Amino acid sequence: MKVAVVNCGSSSIKYEVFSLPDLVMLAAGLIEKIGGSEGCLRQRKRKADGTFEEQSHVKPLADHHEGFELMASVNREDRIIKDDSELFGIGHRVVHGGEMFREPAVIDHEIVAAIRRLIPLAPLHNPSNLLGIEAARARFPGVTQAAVFDTAFHHTLPPHVFHYAVPSAWYADYHVRKYGFHGTSHFYVSREAAKHLGKEPEKVNLITLHLGNGASAAAVRGGASVDTSMGLTPLEGLVMGTRSGDVDPALHFYLMRQTGMSADELEKSLNSQSGLKGVCGLNDMREIIDQAERGDTHAALALDMFCYRVKKYIGAYMAVVGRVDALVFTGGIGENSATVRSRVCGGLKHMGILVDEERNVTCSGSVAGIHEEGAPVKILVIKTDEEREIARQTIHAIKKAGL
Ligand code: ADP
Repeated sequence: MKVAVVNCGSSSIKYEVFSLPDLVMLAAGLIEKIGGSEGCLRQRKRKADGTFEEQSHVKPLADHHEGFELMASVNREDRIIKDDSELFGIGHRVVHGGEMFREPAVIDHEIVAAIRRLIPLAPLHNPSNLLGIEAARARFPGVTQAAVFDTAFHHTLPPHVFHYAVPSAWYADYHVRKYGFHGTSHFYVSREAAKHLGKEPEKVNLITLHLGNGASAAAVRGGASVDTSMGLTPLEGLVMGTRSGDVDPALHFYLMRQTGMSADELEKSLNSQSGLKGVCGLNDMREIIDQAERGDTHAALALDMFCYRVKKYIGAYMAVVGRVDALVFTGGIGENSATVRSRVCGGLKHMGILVDEERNVTCSGSVAGIHEEGAPVKILVIKTDEEREIARQTIHAIKKAGL
């Protein structure tokens, strides 16, 4: 049997196929330009010797249903999913689960309706996730499907953390609170860190840093999320590729009055024209480091701001968590940039955080320690694997539902 994991955007489907029971990844693909005349599927397929073969197909794709049809036919030809009956389940990444979804849910009409009701809280993400769910249910009607929520891991935030200091009716009437995102990644790396440290998952204290295009930090006490940098939406917190992260909330009113910008325009600017891109025009951290090294002052400022904001959250979460077993770096930047890791951790010796620079530069593999020998706080670089975690949670949810 196989399990497929899908993550749908408005014109894309990212997917991975795993074999059961060992969750060996058999194929990973990206379908793009859905809705256009040049739809494109690119897939990496595992060969018998464990290496991967790249393939691509270009074909007009009218909608997500046709995208799934192409994915099914490519995988049928490649004997990865011989027919639909080979699929034990399909797991969907859903960004916002609100307060309702504390764990993965097997999808039925009611779950679809509940995800739809959450659209006002996640207008940029949940509609595409729903589109994918509906198209996949139509294309694979006999396959049980589950939704795995990015917010779920943070359901343990205590009230004094998740409430904003605003009129309480806003929470009661409009569900205004901190939800937190990237939960699947924070959960996965927390479990991997516990394993690496030889601790029970419920006993580990961590600060996990998911630094990718989107970026967030989580304070993990006893294996549970007790604070996180993203909030009502994924805009709060760290400086990101194109998102501002924390700003003075009064900035919005000031700018709306000064420029005549609408709420929608301002929201778009803070989500897609801000962050690293807003400061230096680039949002790829490799290019930013390169430009900063060449003396570009805007790139240097963007890098400084990015690292400073992460450092500030580490300081805050050291205070929140108390005894910290490990600081965990993950995500494209966290896993790959020795420069960022070194700058984030620099000057934190008094907190027990000491990077071994040689280990930092040479680290590889799925989990690597980059702390100085004997340092009180371990510093781990862990490759996140949200798709594998969604696959695992999908299987668990389907079995738990007795399906
Ligand atoms: P997403 O949030 O879109 O999943 P990723 O986790 O893939 O993003 O992270 C993308 C970011 O990782 C980009 O800013 C990219 O520049 C950065 N990145 C990838 N490799 C490196 C590297 N070797 N050094 C610095 N940054 C890197």
